[in-house]
Amino acid sequence: MAGKTCPKCARSMEEGYTIDAGDYSMPSVGVWHRGKPEKSFWGLKTRKADKREIVAWRCTSCGFLEHYAP
Ligand SMILES: [Zn+2]
Repeated sequence: MAGKTCPKCARSMEEGYTIDAGDYSMPSVGVWHRGKPEKSFWGLKTRKADKREIVAWRCTSCGFLEHYAP
């Protein structure tokens, strides 16, 4: 996905990712999870097979964010 242009203002976008501060504030890459959130005693029930790391593209002009979970 190189050379993306912003759908809002047609300027160039740069690739990045969202930081998820989880247990003990250890930074990790934000993830997308299939379905609706299910609460459990420890927070949320998650299944590894249903998770995808989020790739976030940011417009260098207007700041618009576009997320992908390949
Ligand atoms: Zn833009």
